[in-house]
Parts: sequence; structure tokens; C-alpha cells
Amino acid sequence: MPLIKSAGELVALGHDLVQRGNFAEANQKYNDAARKFAKQGDMMGANIASSYAAVIAVGQQMANPMAYRIASQSLMNIGGFVMKIGLREVPANQLATELDLLATEFEVLSLSPTNPQQFKEKAQALQTAAMQFRAKMTGQVLVIPELFSKTVMTGEMKAPQLMAMAEESLGESLILEDPKAAAEHYQSARLWWSQAGRQDLADAASMRVRAYGRAAKCWFCGREVAGEGIHFVSMASELTDVIKRTGEGSALPTFDPLSNAIYACRGCYSAVFKLADDLAIKRTQELEVKIEKELNEIRAQLRNVRSGP
Ligand SMILES: [Zn+2]
Repeated sequence: MPLIKSAGELVALGHDLVQRGNFAEANQKYNDAARKFAKQGDMMGANIASSYAAVIAVGQQMANPMAYRIASQSLMNIGGFVMKIGLREVPANQLATELDLLATEFEVLSLSPTNPQQFKEKAQALQTAAMQFRAKMTGQVLVIPELFSKTVMTGEMKAPQLMAMAEESLGESLILEDPKAAAEHYQSARLWWSQAGRQDLADAASMRVRAYGRAAKCWFCGREVAGEGIHFVSMASELTDVIKRTGEGSALPTFDPLSNAIYACRGCYSAVFKLADDLAIKRTQELEVKIEKELNEIRAQLRNVRSGP
């Protein structure tokens, strides 16, 4: 066996290491191969080897969209060349598309909207990503999740997840102005999560459907509002049966019969909360004055003791 390996041998060695899950060393071998190819003037060989290096480098920074974009760019240079990634063979341009879509997905998911308009924009971006996964990756097992996360994922499996998140984002964009419409979007999200096989997230969406769709009559002011947790909240209280019966005949509940908590619209709730807060501050200040006065008396007594006979 020759001591110095050829560029082609280094690439083969890289493949071997990838199969064994040793990505860091594989990356080195591919980079060494690229340098060797370049020295020999084999630019195609160098491009292929650097593409392998760039793809494997993604595994070391899975949450960095730039790594995906760099790998994608590199793969574009070698077009239809069939790459050998682990046990899978995939044309370079197809892998480039996958990496671009995954990068876009990361970028969209990292958005943290703070107002309705931004929630709408995120929803649109998620829908676009879902359509692209479906259009470009249907029937194809995604190479990157399989290689680095041991997850079998196809384009058509990815799409429902993104659609579910889009519906949730639309729901959030509407919660302030129209809680019932927000509940409808969470209902769609629930269906998409079920289709994606994520029962846990479907259940979570269901809870939002119930909460946002639920309406109550404010115990204090009688306003009728939908959107539990957003536009009305429950407040701990003590209710006697006589008091409870006074609520009979009302279409909307004014209290929760199970917990005895009353429902308050956000306006009444925050007024009570602020008043309680103000009173607490006032009491604390009164207490501070009292303590200060007592401390002064103790200090005076101490002075008397010291200056005494
Ligand atoms: Zn109220």
C-alpha cells in the first residue's frame, strides 16, 4: 500500500468515514482530496471533493442556514454529477435544491413575529416553503435529515408540518381582532398536524381551538367576549349556590362551575389587578413609614443607654 494516497483514494476514504458516521474526519479527507485535485489541475475533481466537504460540514452546524447555502452553491458547480452520500446516491443539483429549501425553512422558522402583520408574513413564507417542498421534493427522501438525524423525511411529509405552522401563525395574527377566526385557523392547523403524524401538536392546536373559540360573559360588566386567556380570563372566587343560580338563563357562562372561578373581560381583570397592585404598594409604603418610626425610637433609646451613667 503506497504511503501517499491519491486524490481519488482520499475521496473513497471520505465516503467510508461518512458511512461509519465519522463526519469530522471525512470532512478532512474530502478537503485534502480537493487540494490534491486542484494541484493536479483537475478542477472538476476539486469541485466534487469540495462539494462533499461542504455537504458534510452541514452536519457540524445543523442550525446555521449559511452552511446549507454554501453547500448548495458548491453543488451547483457540478450539476448532474451523482453524489454518493452514505448509502444513498443523489444528483448534485437535486441535493443543492434540498439544501436551499432546508436553509429557507430554517430562516423562516427563526422569525419571531411581534405584531399581526409580521405573523401574516411568517405564515406566507411558511406556505411558500411548504409548496416548494411539495413541488420539488415529493417522492424523495431528504438526504440531510437522513444522514445527520437518522430521520426519514420526504417532501410530502415536510409540507403538512409547514402548513400547520402557517395556520398557527395566521391564528396568532388574528387573535387580537377576531378570536373566532383565530380558532378556525388553529382548527386547520390541527388537521395538518394530524396529517403530519404529530398527534401531540394536533392536541395542542385543539386546546387553542377550544380556548380561542370559547366565549364568556364578564362577571363584572356583562360584556360578551370570545378568546379565553386573551380577551377574558378566569379569576379565583367563592360562589354560593344562590349566587350561581342568578346566572341561569344567560347564553354565555359568567363562571366556571367546576372551579368556582368567575370570568372577567380583560378590561375588568386588569382594572382589578392594577387596583390590587396600587393597594399593595400603598400598604408597603405605610409599613415602611411605621417601621422607620419604630427604628428611630429604638435608636434614640440606644443613644440614651450609651450616654447614661
Ligand atoms: Zn368586564
